[in-house]
Amino acid sequence: MSASRKIAFIGLGIMGSPMAANLVKAGHDVTGFNLTQPPIDALVAAGGKGASSIADAVKNAEIVITMVPADPQVEQVILGEDGVLANVAEGTLVIDMSSITPQTSIKVEAAAKPKGIRTLDAPVSGGEAGAIEAVLSIMVGGDTADFAEAKPILDALGTTVIHVGPAGAGQTVKAANQLIVAVNIQVLAEAVVFLENAGVDLPAALDVLGGGLAGSTVLNRKKANMIDRQFAPGFRIDLHHKDMGIVTDAARAVGAALPVGAVVAQLVASARANGDGSLDHSALLRGVERLSGREVK
Ligand code: NAD
Repeated sequence: MSASRKIAFIGLGIMGSPMAANLVKAGHDVTGFNLTQPPIDALVAAGGKGASSIADAVKNAEIVITMVPADPQVEQVILGEDGVLANVAEGTLVIDMSSITPQTSIKVEAAAKPKGIRTLDAPVSGGEAGAIEAVLSIMVGGDTADFAEAKPILDALGTTVIHVGPAGAGQTVKAANQLIVAVNIQVLAEAVVFLENAGVDLPAALDVLGGGLAGSTVLNRKKANMIDRQFAPGFRIDLHHKDMGIVTDAARAVGAALPVGAVVAQLVASARANGDGSLDHSALLRGVERLSGREVK
């Protein structure tokens, strides 16, 4: 176990709640803040502390972790008038684990540096199950010395914690991750509709596919959602839509063509336009059913 640190955790949602609880389990002194109260109460019940505002959460913190939905919330929580940078002591390490654009991570670093506040972008992959089981992949951008300080803390949240470059680099790698995951889910959904239409036993088919080259973490983690049509999130299609926008923009900025990614970005947008935005991304299956003229359950 690493030395106990005073950690403020802002954003106790699907991911943040289990991550904050795992930091408590690892022996850290964790104070949580969220827009709604129930997850704060749950953190207190798990042995953490609750705060009534961002200022209250960060007042004694050595480390601040943020895990909020998207760029506007990161800007508000970290850069806003009553936000993290306005309230922390010099020397504090601020680790943003939300998935946002690399440009916003660079902007956060530029705003923090003159105040002597250190920042890392450390987005994650592995989903809600990975957060609960503390087996996330964590891709970190920022200064090498700051990464070394953060590593023992991040090790309580994930099993693959890797420094990938300067500020924003973590977000660039996360954008690639989201591209790979969306395309994987889409083709898995296409295979499911194909197999069902052909009258094959779907669970048996997915079991055998999982043992061959077509096997993947996406197949393992998402096949039950698809077989049972259970689309409670998990990872919301709204958030994946945000991420497809990030990767599409970031790729265009560096002259990389993403032809298949661009199509899948359209299919994610279509799922959202059909009212599926609050469902798990495995609900891309519903879009394939619509395209195949099937009744969508
Ligand atoms: P979520 O919507 O469940 O949680 C976000 C939390 O942030 C909410 O509890 C909300 O109250 C809180 N919040 C928003 N604005 C706030 C503010 N101003 N002050 C305090 N709290 C605030 O989202 P999530 O699924 O936990 O995702 C969080 C981030 O992690 C996103 O960027 C997402 O893309 C990324 N992510 C999610 C998953 C997943 O499987 N859910 C996996 C990897 C990465």
